[in-house]
Amino acid sequence: MRAMSRDEVRGAIANREPVGSRVRLPSWFDEIAWDKLDYLGWRDPRAPMRAYLVADVDGVATGLLLRQNPNQAELGGRSVMCSLCHFMRRFNEVALFAAPRPSADKRQRLSTLGILVCTDLDCATKVHSTPLLGPYDPPLDEIIQSRREGLRARTVAFLRSVSSAQRSVRGRG
Ligand SMILES: [Zn+2]
Repeated sequence: MRAMSRDEVRGAIANREPVGSRVRLPSWFDEIAWDKLDYLGWRDPRAPMRAYLVADVDGVATGLLLRQNPNQAELGGRSVMCSLCHFMRRFNEVALFAAPRPSADKRQRLSTLGILVCTDLDCATKVHSTPLLGPYDPPLDEIIQSRREGLRARTVAFLRSVSSAQRSVRGRG
């Protein structure tokens, strides 16, 4: 993804809570390797059960606050697939997050969308990992490119699905 400024990333969070509160950026913001990322994800430094996810959607920095579900047991099983990078990981490496839908309408604010994402929001590490390649597999750079396209498309679709409620409310007004 393209590099973004601190203000751009902060301003991208559509569903911040409380409304208008300041988004805390990660301490490693200056070291971000933007070209390796398809979304920027981090934990709130002072509220670790909160996470933020920001991506470029049609040239616009778009992002969400996510709240991790504390009940990991709900995931069950041994391995779980991340909905964004589509990698299977150990159950504790994937967490269930809830994204409150951004809306001025109080009733709409109660609505959330759940998603399973890599616990450390580190899908980028997975999509850049080297698989065991067989003789008929495509070259590594093609595999990584295809993984990244999938990750990007699913991230944009997720961001759009959460913010669609906001658009429809605005559309009616
Ligand atoms: Zn992932």
